[in-house]
Amino acid sequence: MILLDGNKLSAKIRSEIAARVGEYCGNTIRPPHLAAVLVGDNPASQAYVRNKIKACEEVGFTSTLIKKDASITQSQLLELIHELNASEDLDGYIVQLPLPRHIDEEEVNLAIDPSKDVDGFHPNNFGRMALGMSSFLPATPMGIMMMLERYDIQTEGKHCVVLGRSNIVGTPIALLMSKKTKPGNATVTIAHSRTHHLPELLRSAQIIIAALGIPHFVKADMVSPGTVIIDVGINKIEDPANAKGYRLVGDVDFDNVKDKCAAITPVPGGVGPMTITALLENTWRAFRQKF
Ligand code: NDP
Repeated sequence: MILLDGNKLSAKIRSEIAARVGEYCGNTIRPPHLAAVLVGDNPASQAYVRNKIKACEEVGFTSTLIKKDASITQSQLLELIHELNASEDLDGYIVQLPLPRHIDEEEVNLAIDPSKDVDGFHPNNFGRMALGMSSFLPATPMGIMMMLERYDIQTEGKHCVVLGRSNIVGTPIALLMSKKTKPGNATVTIAHSRTHHLPELLRSAQIIIAALGIPHFVKADMVSPGTVIIDVGINKIEDPANAKGYRLVGDVDFDNVKDKCAAITPVPGGVGPMTITALLENTWRAFRQKF
């Protein structure tokens, strides 16, 4: 079994990005600059944004954290988005989701300048991705594709079952896996909460990408020997033995599934760090489109 180690691979790719920054930026060219907009005080969002900012520092990017109170109005947030779009010294930015319930996420997403949309959520980028045109890919699917490529996982002609059809993970990764690319060229089935006979379907897969948000959903008896498993889920479960009182687990019952697999990502330390690394790559790309 190959452990698809997102921490180790991310460290390698981040050192490559840092080397590019070192070579390209200097007295005349400033480093790439990413901003993160954090609205409210959701602890998970705060942790994600902290990690993104830390990763920027690691590779020599400039980063700006813009914190706004949860009471911000739709028009105030849109005004901020317009300022970020106009800012010359900013290459890309993200608006950390979820946003408070009174904010219309779709309107916010549509207001983001696609050339600064390093999360790849704007319809311009999503549509270009669907058409196989160059675009910013959504960070999590992009991180998964980078991982499959770097670990040289063969996907061509394989049956890939994607569990989940969200706009940020399930749907885009299904699209990317089905493209005429390497990695890609897989035969993809998208499964969701209405799918019948899920265990049989999963057993027919050679690649499973689990993005449901249900701890330990994929059990050993749902997996055929030799399957490649990408576990996107990040779920908190109670753990009195842990000082925090909880621990993070994926959507796959890792301990019982791992020995049946050809390769599997751990949680934490699999797709999570790759997502941030993909965001750094997108920011680098946004920067290079200007300089
Ligand atoms: P969503 O809640 O948006 O989507 C979940 C999907 O799972 C839906 O399509 C839903 O189906 C499907 N689903 C739910 N229950 C079942 C079931 N019993 N059987 C089959 N399908 C089911 O989640 P996200 O895509 O945003 O995130 C998924 C997981 O990935 C979460 O744990 C999240 O924390 C994690 N995540 C991790 C990231 C990382 O960097 N590692 C980044 C983003 C997310 P339906 O459409 O029918 O409701």
